[in-house]
Amino acid sequence: MGCALHYCRARHGGVVKHRILYTKPSITEREVAYATDAAANGWGDRCYEYIDRFETLFKVHLGVKHAIATSSCTGALHMGLAALGVGPGDEVILADTNWIASAAPITYLGAKPVFVDVLPDTWCIDPAKAEAAITPSTRAVIAVHLYGNLCDMDALRDIGRRHGIPVIEDAAEAIGSVWHGRRAGSMGTFGTFSFHGTKTVTTGEGGMFVTQDDALYEKVLTLSNHGRARGQRKQFWPDMVGFKYKMSNVQAAIGCAQMERIDDLITRKREIFCYYRDRLCGLQGISMNPEPAGTQNGFWMPTIVFSPGTAITREKLQATFAAENIDARVFFWPLSSLPMFEPVASNCVAWDIPGRAINLPSHHEMTTTELARVVAVIETF
Ligand SMILES: *Cc1c(COP(=O)(O)O)cnc(C)c1O
Repeated sequence: MGCALHYCRARHGGVVKHRILYTKPSITEREVAYATDAAANGWGDRCYEYIDRFETLFKVHLGVKHAIATSSCTGALHMGLAALGVGPGDEVILADTNWIASAAPITYLGAKPVFVDVLPDTWCIDPAKAEAAITPSTRAVIAVHLYGNLCDMDALRDIGRRHGIPVIEDAAEAIGSVWHGRRAGSMGTFGTFSFHGTKTVTTGEGGMFVTQDDALYEKVLTLSNHGRARGQRKQFWPDMVGFKYKMSNVQAAIGCAQMERIDDLITRKREIFCYYRDRLCGLQGISMNPEPAGTQNGFWMPTIVFSPGTAITREKLQATFAAENIDARVFFWPLSSLPMFEPVASNCVAWDIPGRAINLPSHHEMTTTELARVVAVIETF
């Protein structure tokens, strides 16, 4: 519990309520003990111990065969796309509504991100639009499970099968999300995760590459080790130019503690969302993260979208939350609206929603009083 002071004097003499952060990791004595042990003892012969354990814990949780811990989700995506052979002139399809980390690795490889519209209810890629965007240059479709909301994996995998195109899952925001019995990230040709400090499970910075495919795993393992293959007998002998996106043992130690608490971490995220939903569902003109039958949403980021008729704008929302000293984040700008990409204004849903939506604070240690403060702000609209 950070600040004991619930109120402090502002310079202009008024009373300012303490700040509510939108995210913050859940760190207990367990994380501190493991990290301390790694820092004190996790060297030499033991320099991979926590990394191996973290990968195993993650594999078991997700129900996948292979996992490679990385320094970021961006790095995991970069290596996975490289292993699939994505290169100059190729196209990779993904939703316009996204954080840039899902698109940047495509450009690193000289390929082109093709941005398609999202569905109005899940804010995730519209499978019909994805299929319509396929050309002879398409090498992959990336399914990003936005804010914990699940992409329609059945439709996407069906499209992938019919066109012979791999479907990749960027599940960075979807720890705890389950699609008809299968965890997000375990269904695609490969899946990627982020353990950035804002995510449900954190190592400070970090990521994970997962796959069920033995050959793809070997390829990424070699790439991840500067191109040195496992069976290579010669020392310091790379067989190709690879990457260096490794996770350190100290970071993995924190990750092990987080994975041992994974059920609690997911449960708390869900509790926070349910608190918001129970109190806000009676209000007219708003929608929140969906949870269709047969699925579970990890609710990484509780989000409200106001209907167009309410005339509530992003700017109005930001100003009101700021005045209450509550961090509320803007909904992702469409990537195609950014200066380095060509605008795709026909992605109507992706271009429209951010103007009337906001992410609510949802870190694990939020108190009921804090949650009530957020709800009270929304009720003023
Ligand atoms: C956070 C995030 C990333 C980036 O993860 P890093 O570990 O910072 O590289 C990628 N994709 C999505 C969907 C994310 O939310």
